[in-house]
Amino acid sequence: MTRAGQEYIESLRDGREIWLDGELVKDVTTHPAFRNTVRSIAGLYDMTHDPAFRDVLTVQPEGADARIHRAYAIPRSHEDLVARRKAFKTWSEASYGFLGRSPDYMASGIAGFAALPGVFAGAEFDGTANLDAYYRRMSQGDLYQSFTLANPQADRTKAASEQERDDLYIRVVKELDGGIVVRGAKMIGTAAIFGNEIIVGTIEPLPAKDADYALSFSVPLDTPGLKFISRTSYEAAARTVFDNPLSSRFDENDSMLICEDVFVPWENVLVYRDVEASFKQWWVTPAYWNFVHQAATRFWTKLEFLVGLGILIAKANGTYELPPVQIQIGRLMGWLNMAKSMLLAAEASYEAVPGGDGAVQINKEIASAHRFMAADVYPKVLQEIKTLAGGGLIQLPASGLDLRHPVIGDLVAKYVRSPGAGPEKRIKLFKLAWDALGSEFAGRHEQYERFYHGAPHIYLPSMVRDGSPDLCERLAQSCLDGYELADEPAGFAA
Ligand SMILES: Cc1cc2nc3c(=O)[nH]c(=O)nc-3n(C[C@H](O)[C@H](O)[C@H](O)COP(=O)(O)OP(=O)(O)OC[C@H]3O[C@@H](n4cnc5c(N)ncnc54)[C@H](O)[C@@H]3O)c2cc1C
Repeated sequence: MTRAGQEYIESLRDGREIWLDGELVKDVTTHPAFRNTVRSIAGLYDMTHDPAFRDVLTVQPEGADARIHRAYAIPRSHEDLVARRKAFKTWSEASYGFLGRSPDYMASGIAGFAALPGVFAGAEFDGTANLDAYYRRMSQGDLYQSFTLANPQADRTKAASEQERDDLYIRVVKELDGGIVVRGAKMIGTAAIFGNEIIVGTIEPLPAKDADYALSFSVPLDTPGLKFISRTSYEAAARTVFDNPLSSRFDENDSMLICEDVFVPWENVLVYRDVEASFKQWWVTPAYWNFVHQAATRFWTKLEFLVGLGILIAKANGTYELPPVQIQIGRLMGWLNMAKSMLLAAEASYEAVPGGDGAVQINKEIASAHRFMAADVYPKVLQEIKTLAGGGLIQLPASGLDLRHPVIGDLVAKYVRSPGAGPEKRIKLFKLAWDALGSEFAGRHEQYERFYHGAPHIYLPSMVRDGSPDLCERLAQSCLDGYELADEPAGFAA
């Protein structure tokens, strides 16, 4: 049975240790830096009980006695992939694509682990029974899984064990009868503080000497010794929903995770001191490709929203029909359709998960290309809409409430206006646009879209390694092989 919003909210009142601006946050659900976003996420859970969305968002797997979120179900056909995408789309539209790590993101990854449990059967540690219990706990309890994989950005030329301190990255420091003790940090956990459990893992390949870092475990957020250091809260900085409509409600937060000698019971450990399994967990199970499926759907929604903003801005400025503006809108629509068609193509040319007992995943080659495309296109989309908007993004009163001011209200109303639209409508639109395109919240989103699936120096070479460069080379070579200088009849006279 999926949870209702209120149940989710209550589950966060567990004494988790979150730090913001030197303050220990007592209750994430009521703190002004986080409470609206908690409510936005709670709204997603409520949607799973709404008759209008229930069948899109949830499914009752064969043999199960309750419905689970579709993201937790293992897809076994093209129809299943389409049904998952419709669930992703429905949730992503509720935040206009700005909640990147809504609960369905990591739920998809967990379904990916469960599709290939054999990966967790290491030579020294067999995590398959733990994985099975974990999958049941998360999917049947409808829990929100946060995660952190990337290590702190210290010296990127050195392996984990070669860093200035060997407990900079999370590693096992002690083995006890009942479990392990871990110490160290992970760089960024997006939405981590809004979850019920946090999973720690390592997505990059590790050398054998770094076995102490080759771990994966999931623990509740109130586990003693877990500390989350939050970045600046854009929600706290927002004046009102009218002035900052996105950052006031969809600031999913990013925090650094620090483990200060955290005890992890064995039953919560999925991978232990196993460099092969810690890598395969993400790359050989469908987990990563399931992430991309969710993320590509959300990206489609986000582009739809941004293109819509571009159109409204052009109409508000009376420029929409101008031929050069139509070219700009056409370019935006082209990017949007590219994102959508890549997603649909990745589903249509789905692949069987090797050894996955009938499980399927989206096409990996197209999914890789989407990851590259999205990171490349997102800044261009922002740029194009900023060009459409001009100074209107800045010619805004600090607050919409200025319209009610006894001295300046009428002046603002007179000079901030669009053809056919009153001042309030214009201010409302351009404030939304600034929040999406130019605010600190918007800047964070640009960095998110560029990096959340890894850095280009990792994913671009992987497209060469895992793609078909030989086919391209062969075609070019076959052209070269089709003619020779010796075949040319004419030459120069001696
Ligand atoms: C907003 C945001 C949210 C995020 N959320 C999460 C999250 O929830 N969970 C999580 O695990 N991670 C998260 N991340 C982290 C993300 O996974 C990393 O940013 C990403 O993997 C890239 O790693 P990095 O930032 O350490 O960059 P680095 O690997 O340090 O690379 C940064 C730049 O340095 C250069 N560089 C570094 N090494 C090399 C090299 N060997 N060769 C050539 N050039 C190099 C490149 O120019 C590269 O672009 C998030 C990141 C952002 C920005």
